[in-house]
Amino acid sequence: MIEIKSLTIQELKQEMTEMGEKPFRAGQIFKWLHEGVESFEEMSNLSKALRAKLAERFVLTVPQVVRRQVSQVDGTVKYLWRMRDGDCVESVLMHYEHGVSVCVSTQVGCRMGCKFCASGQNGLKRHLSAGEILDEILFMQKDSGEKVSNIVLMGTGEPLDNYDNVLKFLHLVSCPEGINIGQRHISLSTSGIADKIERLAGEKLQITLSVSLHAPDDETRSSIMPVNDAYSIERLMQACRYYFDTTGRRISYEYMMADGKTDRPWQAEKLAKLLRGRPGHVNLIPLNEVEESPLRPSRPEAVRRFQQALEKRGITATVRRRLGPDIDAACGQLRRRELQRQ
Ligand code: SAH
Ligand code: SF4
Repeated sequence: MIEIKSLTIQELKQEMTEMGEKPFRAGQIFKWLHEGVESFEEMSNLSKALRAKLAERFVLTVPQVVRRQVSQVDGTVKYLWRMRDGDCVESVLMHYEHGVSVCVSTQVGCRMGCKFCASGQNGLKRHLSAGEILDEILFMQKDSGEKVSNIVLMGTGEPLDNYDNVLKFLHLVSCPEGINIGQRHISLSTSGIADKIERLAGEKLQITLSVSLHAPDDETRSSIMPVNDAYSIERLMQACRYYFDTTGRRISYEYMMADGKTDRPWQAEKLAKLLRGRPGHVNLIPLNEVEESPLRPSRPEAVRRFQQALEKRGITATVRRRLGPDIDAACGQLRRRELQRQ
């Protein structure tokens, strides 16, 4: 059966025609779906007969909340969802001055194997469909009663390893007939699959690309990110250049601060050299400790010194604020704990 929420309006129209229904029904159905209805029965402007036909032909996915953790400090909410087949994924809802931002997962697990990341420690279980990624947002809106204004694809999974579904999700979520979140309010974070970055550039989207750089030298980067063996820093930076030249969108470089590993003064210097003349911005992220990893967060003075060293060389860098410090489990840890419990 077809997952109905993964369909675009055009595809739904096609389906209606095949079912002998009027194409305008597609718009009505699309609207209900993107409001987060939990059954076809709720689509009250459709006939009973059509609702029954839809239920026969399509699957309507409705993720269930397994756990909801609310930060007492800043109201950040971390969700653990159970999907239709029993798999669990995480999403986070954060409050900023300018609105509500959500961080969503794109895969169940991840196969990129970064040493510091809890999401990848059990490998990849499966891709999420476009509709399932959308569901995380629809059901966070429904659960919280808040309207989402910004999206970051920074939960579990490597978005560019699930390219087609993620691309479709981007179209669905920015569709004017749906929840209509502008592409400029969406960021996609990648560990650096260079050829997919170039492919993405060709889609001419207005989204922000975030690149998880985390080290300015191949030796260090390869030791914590296996993807670097396939795409070296030089190759990755070539893809980033192409992305900017093609889309005109500045790139955001994520740089994780790990004590004695990525925070050494020569690395700040090397990073500045690497990024010189490239329109972009550096986000310094204090490492979240993960049980199975020996890496530790940098000391605050080291982060400050690193930031100053970059700024002195003309590279703008901000230290990412940690939201929900009291519920702070590094990306993927909620799901991991659930797996261990089972
Ligand atoms: N797979 C994509 C997006 C999901 S990970 C990527 O790797 O970019 C989102 C971000 O969290 C990435 O920048 C990733 O490197 C970072 N991250 C993962 N584990 C972390 C940890 N323990 N501490 C700090 N950042 C971490
Ligand atoms: Fe996958 Fe990103 Fe975690 Fe690396 S950091 S294992 S790419 S989710």
